[in-house]
Amino acid sequence: MLTLVSQANAYDVAMENFDTAANAMGLDKNTREMIKYPERMLTVGVPVRMDDGKIHRFEGYRVQHSSVRGPAKGGIRFHPQVTLDEVKALATWMTWKCAVVNIPFGGAKGGITCDPKKMSPGELERMTRRYTSAILPLIGPEQDIPAPDVYTNSQTMAWIMDTYSMTKGYAIPGVVTGKPISLGGSLGRNEATGRGVFYTIECACEHLHMPLRDATIAVQGFGNAGSIAAQLLFDAGAKIVAVSDSTGCVYNKEGLNIPELIKMKALCGHVEGFPESEPILPQQLLALECDILVPAALENAIHADNAAAVRAKIVAEAANGPVMPAADRILESDDVFVIPDILCNAGGVTVSYFEWVQDEQHLFWEAADIYKRLERVMKTAFRDVMKIHLERKVPMRIAANMLGIGRVAEAVQIRGIYP
Ligand code: NAD
Repeated sequence: MLTLVSQANAYDVAMENFDTAANAMGLDKNTREMIKYPERMLTVGVPVRMDDGKIHRFEGYRVQHSSVRGPAKGGIRFHPQVTLDEVKALATWMTWKCAVVNIPFGGAKGGITCDPKKMSPGELERMTRRYTSAILPLIGPEQDIPAPDVYTNSQTMAWIMDTYSMTKGYAIPGVVTGKPISLGGSLGRNEATGRGVFYTIECACEHLHMPLRDATIAVQGFGNAGSIAAQLLFDAGAKIVAVSDSTGCVYNKEGLNIPELIKMKALCGHVEGFPESEPILPQQLLALECDILVPAALENAIHADNAAAVRAKIVAEAANGPVMPAADRILESDDVFVIPDILCNAGGVTVSYFEWVQDEQHLFWEAADIYKRLERVMKTAFRDVMKIHLERKVPMRIAANMLGIGRVAEAVQIRGIYP
């Protein structure tokens, strides 16, 4: 597997970004104490009978960072590098993200330290169900609602929904989002993150007076977020010149045929060896001469040692936490326009919110309606962040954090829940 330099602790990054934004806002100390840290953190042992009959114990986590503005909301990640601190960071970012797009959710995240690529479907199902029963006291449609993240998908959500519903005796679809349509999932949820990334790139191009048609784009990570963003950008006439996944990177300066690449990835599980492409190294993808770079894999991809090599005009953070604070400063001084994660990839949680509303109402919307609402939410959030960026002369990331933190701070102050 290709490795990213991810020695840095994502939670330290989340805390540093909070402090920078809170200082820029002049946020008072009491409010900081109330909203900065996670409300609940649960670590669970997840014993699973593996296919060879032996029991293997995995470690899992669920962190609720905030429930000030509504039920906690956030995905579940299955990955060998999952740690409690990573889950805390991701939960923290979910809080500000939900507030940036102004949906009535707080932030949460979950994960299991495991290597799903080495597990059979049966092992994955048993692990998911055992993990669900272990975190059962925390989750529920009014409390905390999981969704897919790295190496989890609609099937994972179906197992969680079923395990939860078995304890109640009837179906409770609203306990998770990102479910299969046949279980109460929403049209448009699968492509929502990539679609949201696309809308924010459209806004950034408009702001920079840069045509999207024929723009050259490199995408790091070709899963749900990366491949769908790439498909929509391809459909809009952009040239996706490079794509990577955990096994390799492919490059074609004339542009890759993204629909064919998606088919190959679905069939073979990797992008390497794609016809009409040449292999390049992961570090070359980040340093390509291109208009837009879309990091859509894991945290800390762009750090102090490689940020200066980035030559894109726009970095659109489909992934959570792909740019470290030291790299932010380098990109800023190089005039790179960053669409920060808590804005750029908020399309996923926005359509998760639509899914939850539909489940609660037992009334389902058409795809066109969902896309229209998503576009409105994403473009409004972009405008709100841009306003702070221009008026307060702060980088887009700080502006997004100021918007999100400001809304949570206002909610906590109005609720009056000081001790
Ligand atoms: P996914 O499991 O569908 O895909 C992950 C992709 O990243 C895979 O193609 C994998 O091969 C690739 N990858 C892993 N390690 C890599 C490496 N070292 N170099 C290059 N590629 C690598 O996951 P996803 O849901 O697309 O999530 C990707 C990112 O987007 C994560 O940061 C996630 O938190 C974020 N995100 C996802 C959603 C969502 O709705 N799925 C929403 C918001 C944010």
